[in-house]
Amino acid sequence: MNPSSFASAVFKPFDQPALPAAYRTRTLHLIDGKHVEPSGGIWFDAVDPCTGAVIARIAEGNAADVDRAVASARRAFEDGPWSRFKPAERQLALLKLADLMEAEFDDIALVDTLEMGRPITPSRNFRSMVLRALRHYAGLATAIHGQTMGNSSPVDLLSYTLREPVGVVGAIIPWNGPLTASIWKVGPAIATGCTVILKPAEEAPLTPLRFAELCLEAGVPEGVFTVIQGDKVAVDAILDHPDIKAVSFVGSTPIAKYIYEKGTANGKRVQALGGAKNHMLVLPDADIDMAADAAVSAAYGSAGERCMAISVVLAVGEAGDAMVEAVKARLPKIKVGPGSDPAAEMGPLVTKQHRDAVAGHLASGVAQGADLVVDGRQHPLYDPDDGGFFLGVSLMDKVTPEMESYRAEIFGPVLQVVRVDTYADAMKVIDANPYGNGTAIFTRDGGAARQFQFDVEVGMVGINVPIPVPVAYYSFGGWKASLFGDTHMYGPEGINFYTRAKVVTSRWPDPGTSSVDLGFPRTR
Ligand code: NAD
Repeated sequence: MNPSSFASAVFKPFDQPALPAAYRTRTLHLIDGKHVEPSGGIWFDAVDPCTGAVIARIAEGNAADVDRAVASARRAFEDGPWSRFKPAERQLALLKLADLMEAEFDDIALVDTLEMGRPITPSRNFRSMVLRALRHYAGLATAIHGQTMGNSSPVDLLSYTLREPVGVVGAIIPWNGPLTASIWKVGPAIATGCTVILKPAEEAPLTPLRFAELCLEAGVPEGVFTVIQGDKVAVDAILDHPDIKAVSFVGSTPIAKYIYEKGTANGKRVQALGGAKNHMLVLPDADIDMAADAAVSAAYGSAGERCMAISVVLAVGEAGDAMVEAVKARLPKIKVGPGSDPAAEMGPLVTKQHRDAVAGHLASGVAQGADLVVDGRQHPLYDPDDGGFFLGVSLMDKVTPEMESYRAEIFGPVLQVVRVDTYADAMKVIDANPYGNGTAIFTRDGGAARQFQFDVEVGMVGINVPIPVPVAYYSFGGWKASLFGDTHMYGPEGINFYTRAKVVTSRWPDPGTSSVDLGFPRTR
């Protein structure tokens, strides 16, 4: 394989006729360092959300493909120099990988854009976050320590723990942010010495594949990082495979629950991050201009297709009218356009089916009494019969928790406003919501913010920060129906997820000093 030739082929997606046909139309598995055809001979299409045109034909993975991938990942874990004793080599490979990604980042961002429709400028803006995360994981490779206690008892015991990689792990990701999701899953897995099989989403298979190719180029041995393309068939094969020890999932809540239940029933360690409905609580004393800027950025960035998007402004008292006016005033300035347009701030939604579902929530909100202050269906690019899946921004006021559109995640460029009288009423709304991924409070009152951080049952909390995605040194994850499992993703909890502890109790007695003792090692 020549990864560079693949790169030049994939990374001119807006100039498709110039691409060699093999790379333009076929996205394969990457097993044992090689591109591999699907053994079942089945393919499906991925489309450009801006046009509806097919951009890739994707291999459909089956149980035989997963079997082959696991055999290679097991070999790499058990036989290779990789897993057990070479943290420094893992560190060097991750540092090299970060350099390769840095050199190629504009092209990678372009492919991310092509797959999911996010405009090119915000895709490029992920550069520092991605590179910092990779370099952080590189540092972690040599910083995974156990605990030690010398003279842990009067009989000269030395006790210590080793943190060892769990083995072959599966990673299953959604289409929104294929690059970041791949890095958040695979980076820590590689740092710990696990070998990993990644199953990208059907809608966004290209960036994860390129990431795997760059890993090979960076010196990560064959078999350490495998990509299996496909859908539920491949996922079920991963969940059923006895040699896969742990599964890390990100996606919607119903599938996260399914993954957790099936994976744990099969004896695997599972972390399954699910969907979200993130509330931004705005108190009457907040700086309304700052809060409105934040709400607009967090609701409509990435067309609202972010698990950390703000989807509800929970406005207390007079903050309601002020926020609706301030948000409304900002919306005409948001430039909606195709991913390739550097001036575009918001692109299309990922599929026609998803765009139509989001538009359906607008209709249902109105039918149930909400006030649709701004209707994204009025945007000139919205055309249910056209090839691109555009929808303008929408602002829905006077939403109540009983409405179907409130209960749905929506996952699109729709900001709902729920009005309440008091802080206590607001907390009841957040508490009653089944999701607990992210939340934010906007206020000038330090006491209220301090109280909120303790009161709220949500995994990631922002104080005057609308999208509190933790930096790489912390872990990412929600509570309630936004997470099935015990550990969050990446950061210290990610390292714990991919490793397990072994406790060693040792003693080096002088010859002739031993005796028979039928008890445990004594600590008195
Ligand atoms: P999804 O649940 O439909 O798909 C996620 C993955 O699961 C994909 O790889 C897909 O192939 C696989 N999958 C889908 N249906 C399956 C089935 N029936 N059986 C087995 N596997 C199946 O999610 P999506 O539409 O790709 O992504 C959007 C969702 O992901 C949203 O709900 C969003 O909130 C969530 N998300 C959550 C986080 C988080 O960190 N909590 C981050 C990003 C996205």
